[in-house]
Amino acid sequence: MKIISVNSGSSSLKFQLYQMPEETVIASGQVEKIGFKDSVCTLKHNGEIRKETLAVKNHTQAAKLIIDGLINEQVLTSMQEINGVGHRIVQGGEVFDRSTLVNKKVIEQILILGEMAPLHNYAHVEAINGFLKVLPDIPHVVVFDTTFHQTMKADAYMYSTPYEWYLNYGIRKYGFHGSSHKYVSEKTNELLKLENSKVIVCHIGNGASLSAVVNGKCVDTSMGFTPLEGIPMGTRTGSLDPAILSYMEKKLNVSSDEMYEILNKKSGYLGVSQLSSDARDLEEAAFRGHKQAILAFELQAKRIADYIGSYYVYMGGLDAVSFTAGIGENSPYLRKLVLERLKVLGVLIDEEANNNNRLLISSPDSKVKIYVIKTNEELVIARDTMAFIKNNNIV
Ligand code: AMP
Repeated sequence: MKIISVNSGSSSLKFQLYQMPEETVIASGQVEKIGFKDSVCTLKHNGEIRKETLAVKNHTQAAKLIIDGLINEQVLTSMQEINGVGHRIVQGGEVFDRSTLVNKKVIEQILILGEMAPLHNYAHVEAINGFLKVLPDIPHVVVFDTTFHQTMKADAYMYSTPYEWYLNYGIRKYGFHGSSHKYVSEKTNELLKLENSKVIVCHIGNGASLSAVVNGKCVDTSMGFTPLEGIPMGTRTGSLDPAILSYMEKKLNVSSDEMYEILNKKSGYLGVSQLSSDARDLEEAAFRGHKQAILAFELQAKRIADYIGSYYVYMGGLDAVSFTAGIGENSPYLRKLVLERLKVLGVLIDEEANNNNRLLISSPDSKVKIYVIKTNEELVIARDTMAFIKNNNIV
């Protein structure tokens, strides 16, 4: 069975073509700068990369380019070879507690939820409609970032705001990066081989979030109503005193939309260091002794450790912490900054393993196992799509 896993943004469309159930990537690629005259279409197959610059008007044209490209490059003989398309959707609200088949009602619902995630859900629907036009006769499945976190209890997902905010406007914690937290917590559980497990996943990329997972079920997560809550990120503040917003809006004479933009795009690593949002640039500066670069990492590391401490208490123990995503997988420096703060929990680092990004980076006498696990959100989407097709006898 061949499944395409799609991850779309407002001006980009990334995909991986999987052979399932073998879980092998046959081809991958992306169309960037959709809507511009110089859109870039990239296709990777058999170790070769084909890149083309051309005007791509919209997501439908991008979807067509991808399918035509796969046929032209003889990855596929025809589009009939594709059995399903899985689409990543950022916000599924309380409506979607599992992946589901795309139909008119589901699309309408994703658009309604778009009010809470305008930068994401509308673009996802563009991509769904694009692929539906190009591949109308096969199942399209939507896989939500929020689903994995739907098992949280009210004490973890509610805010102490007026209750009618929740009832009338859906104000609660949803959590994001769900496919990554699911994949990495499952991998961690395979490694732990425990009957009952308490795991924390630290997804530290440009966006960053933590989740607390008991016996495979998410019980808490650091992102909230939007991805802005939680730990500081590449350009996001993470949690802060909300009183700062109105105070600084007045001081800077900016609107609430402009303030939201500053909190999302000009804060975090970038805001504190005044250098870059990219961890590699910041590490270089930190190693040279750049004070604000060091502070940017330390602020993040402290917050990560704070969450780990609170999840330890909430779960009543901890078997493993797994680091993942761009920084979590590749930065011994950030991991060490975090892990040194966890000595009180009996965490001991194997320095050599940490410096080499090994799978297990805790020493044998550590009370908590520390892993570095490469995430694979696209594979979760492909797995869910295949499972949905099989369970519903669609093929
Ligand atoms: P992601 O959002 O998961 O793609 O992660 C992007 C972040 O990972 C960026 O801040 C990159 O600088 C960071 N990153 C990627 N490779 C490395 C590396 N070798 N060392 C430190 N950070 C890295």
